[in-house]
Amino acid sequence: MVEVNDNFRQLPVSYLFSEVARKIAAYKKENDACEIIRMDIGDITRPLFPSVINAMHEAVNELASSATFHGYGPEQGYPFLRDAIAEHDYLNRGLSIEASDIFVSDGAKSDLGNLGDIYSRNCKVAVMNPAYPVYVDDSVIDGRAGKLVDGHWNRLIYLDCDPDNHFLPMLPQERADVIFLCFPNNPTGEAISHDDLVKWVEYAHNHGSLIIYDSAYEAFVRQPGIVKSIYEIDGADEVAIEIRSFSKTAGFTGIRCGYTVVPRRLKGRYADGSEVALNTLWNRRQTTKFNGASYVAQKGASAVYTPEGLDSVKNATDYYIANAALIKDAFRKIGYKAYGGDNSPYVWVSTGNGKDSWQIFDELLQNCGFSTTPGSGFGTKGEGYIRLTGFNSRENTEKAMSRLIERYL
Ligand code: PLP
Repeated sequence: MVEVNDNFRQLPVSYLFSEVARKIAAYKKENDACEIIRMDIGDITRPLFPSVINAMHEAVNELASSATFHGYGPEQGYPFLRDAIAEHDYLNRGLSIEASDIFVSDGAKSDLGNLGDIYSRNCKVAVMNPAYPVYVDDSVIDGRAGKLVDGHWNRLIYLDCDPDNHFLPMLPQERADVIFLCFPNNPTGEAISHDDLVKWVEYAHNHGSLIIYDSAYEAFVRQPGIVKSIYEIDGADEVAIEIRSFSKTAGFTGIRCGYTVVPRRLKGRYADGSEVALNTLWNRRQTTKFNGASYVAQKGASAVYTPEGLDSVKNATDYYIANAALIKDAFRKIGYKAYGGDNSPYVWVSTGNGKDSWQIFDELLQNCGFSTTPGSGFGTKGEGYIRLTGFNSRENTEKAMSRLIERYL
C-alpha cells in the first residue's frame, strides 16, 4: 500500500454542516407545519445575469463549429478576460496592476490552496480567528500547522478578532511569513479601512512577509474609505497577492471562475537567499498543474465587465446587502449584538449574555423556524456567535425577521 499524506489524519472531521443539517431535519420531522427558512445559506440565490447568459450561449455556439472552436486556452486565462479585469478592477480605479499580473482560475478556493505550492513548507502562517476555514485546513494538509492542542494548531499564529478590536486583528507579536487577510470578512461581515490596512502592508515590508488578501466580497463594499483592493495601499504590490472571485459578485458559484493577482514586483527568496519573482513561480506552477479555466466560463466572466454586466453586479449585491440590513436591524431591535452587513452579505450576531453558538442556533430554530451557522465552526473566537447571510430571497428574509421580532420583542 502507498504511504499517504499523514497530515490528513490530523484534520478534524468538521461536524458543523452535517450537524446543522441533522438538527434541521429533526425539527422538520417534529414540526411539519412550519417551513424552515435557511438564513445560514452560503450560496447566492439569484440567477446569472442576462449579459453573462448571452455571452456563454455565444461561446457554446462557437465551440459547436470547427471554424470557431477553442480547445486548450492559455493557462493564465484568455487575454480578453485578463485585459478586462486589469482595466475595470484596477486601472480605472487608479491601481497599476496589469494583465500580466493576473491569473484566471476556476475560483478562489482552489487558488487559496494552490498558492501553498510556491511558499516554503517552513513558513509560519497567520490566520484570522474566526476565519473562512480553508486557510487553516490548507495549512494543515500542507504540513504548516503543527499539532492541534486545545483547539489551536501550535505552528499557526492566530489573529484574534472580537468587538473590542472591531473585528480587525492586532499585528502579530511574532514574525509571520504568510498572513491570510480577508476583507470584507467571512464570517464577521466587517470590512477594513485604508488606514487600518496600511499597518499590515507596513508590517509585511518590515518583516519580509507575504500577505494573501482574500477579497472575494469586494463588490459589496459601499462605504467611502473602505478598501476594495489591497493595491490601494502604496507598496502593497511588493508584499501582497490578491484573490478574487466571480462567485458572489456575479453568481458564478456553479460556473466557477475567479482570479489571482501576483504582481511582478512581488519577490521571494530561495533557500540560498537568491531572489525570484513570485509571478514567475506562480506562472510555472499554473502552467504545470492547471490547464486554464473553461472558455465558456471566461466568456461569461468577461461579460460581467460590460455596462449591463456592471449594472447587474450593483443590483445583485445591493439586493443581498439590503437583506443583510434587515437582519442586522431585526437582531439589534431585540437587543442582540449584530455586526457586519454594511459592506458585506454576512451578519455576525451574539446575544451579548454568554450563550454559546449552538444554544443560539437551537433557540432560533425552535422558536423562529430559521437556521443559522454556529460561529464556533469558524474558530475558537467564533464561539458565542452565529452567522446569518443576506443570500436568501427578500421575501424569506422578511419572513424570518418578522418571526424573530414577534417572538422576542
Ligand atoms: N473566500 C471566501 C472568504 C469565501 O467566503 C469563499 C466562498 O464562500 C471563497 C473564497 C471561495 O470562492 P470561490 O467560489 O471562488 O471558490
